[in-house]
Amino acid sequence: MALCKHVLRSSYMRLVSARGYITPPGPPGSKSEAVFNKEKKYGAWNYKPIPVALCRAEGVYVWDVEGKQYFDFLSGYSAVNQGHRHPKIVEALKNQLDTLTLTSRAFYNDALGEFEEYTTRLFGYDKLLPMNSGVEAAETSVKLARRWAYDVKGVPHNQAKVVFAEGNFWGRSIAAISSSTDSDSYGGFGPFVPGFEVIEYDNLDALETAVSDPHCAALHIEPIQGENGVVIPSEGYLRGVRDICSRNNVLWIADEIQTGLGRTGKRLACDHDSVRPDVVVLGKALSGGMFPVSCVLADDEVMLTIKPGQHGSTYGGSPLACKVAMASLKVLEEEGMYENARRMGEVFKNEMTNLPDIVTMIRGRGLFWAVVIKSEGDVNAWNVALRLRDNGIVSKPTHDHILRLSPPLNITEEQMREACGIIKNVLKSM
Ligand code: PLP
Repeated sequence: MALCKHVLRSSYMRLVSARGYITPPGPPGSKSEAVFNKEKKYGAWNYKPIPVALCRAEGVYVWDVEGKQYFDFLSGYSAVNQGHRHPKIVEALKNQLDTLTLTSRAFYNDALGEFEEYTTRLFGYDKLLPMNSGVEAAETSVKLARRWAYDVKGVPHNQAKVVFAEGNFWGRSIAAISSSTDSDSYGGFGPFVPGFEVIEYDNLDALETAVSDPHCAALHIEPIQGENGVVIPSEGYLRGVRDICSRNNVLWIADEIQTGLGRTGKRLACDHDSVRPDVVVLGKALSGGMFPVSCVLADDEVMLTIKPGQHGSTYGGSPLACKVAMASLKVLEEEGMYENARRMGEVFKNEMTNLPDIVTMIRGRGLFWAVVIKSEGDVNAWNVALRLRDNGIVSKPTHDHILRLSPPLNITEEQMREACGIIKNVLKSM
């Protein structure tokens, strides 16, 4: 067995060494080591990055400070769906940099209305509210739901309830962690925001019970739970969600910050089930990896409950953000990225057969995949990610036993097959 692993690994090393990315980065005294040490010395320790020091990127590739090339199979947690530094997005950014970057919402600017018109038409909602990071937009959707509950549904003041699902992730603010079931996220940060209830994901009975409460304002869920390990609900769940929320006069908020904008092979993950949420939250790839741009989409009945002065953000809706977001959306729409994500997802699935026993499951949709590992001793998702790094792919585990794989949506078939070969060989070598 050991010999077999060795033969496999050495023949694989011959294969990839031609591309020059086989040596692990960061030996003592290297440039990588200097990057790691500086962050460690001067930065907060709130992340545990994979030890690879990146300094350049283009398309599906990133390079480290030693000049080694890697496939990017994280895509900035799906912020870089369009590929790194997409030329049309960079051009939009540069053009706007030379014209007008920020007005604040104290004044009108000539880009916001254009962005709002383009995006509401594309997604089929009356109005858009721009924010910056994902967590801000997700929190905006919760504020909107509470306000709608008081002003439209008639819930008594300060008694609105918002329902979330176990395993949810929508960021790190006090509100976001107040709905979290992950003790790493919420532990030691209480007291928490009241008025939240958490139910089992993918359980329509639990949902029916929770939302039949007349004080219930909204259900806030991801159509596929990304950070929880690409957890896909059962066939028919989202249609059931739509039906139950409608019957109980409860808003359905779909957090499409990670699943939206093509990641699963359609514009929105909800499109696979042909269902329309009442509120959609977008972020990440809305700016193609340039800087944080997010938004909430809803119809007038919901959006117009918030009046001037009741919500906002200094940078939200800046001309720079609007132009970048429009370019990012147009690239996705006009360059066939949804269809490519769907097709490359099929290639990935077909390649990922005859996997070793350490893999208990692979699951995913489009280019949003999880490889579930039987975590035992040194075999865990972190060590698989390290070995993938050594062999030319950067990726990041989510939990101990799940490796998430999500390359940019413009990956070619040749690149995908090459990456799949690396992934399979690495899994076999563990
Ligand atoms: N919602 C979902 C589904 C996410 O996956 C994330 C981040 O991973 C967020 C919200 C928070 O986005 P941000 O990190 O931009 O605040």
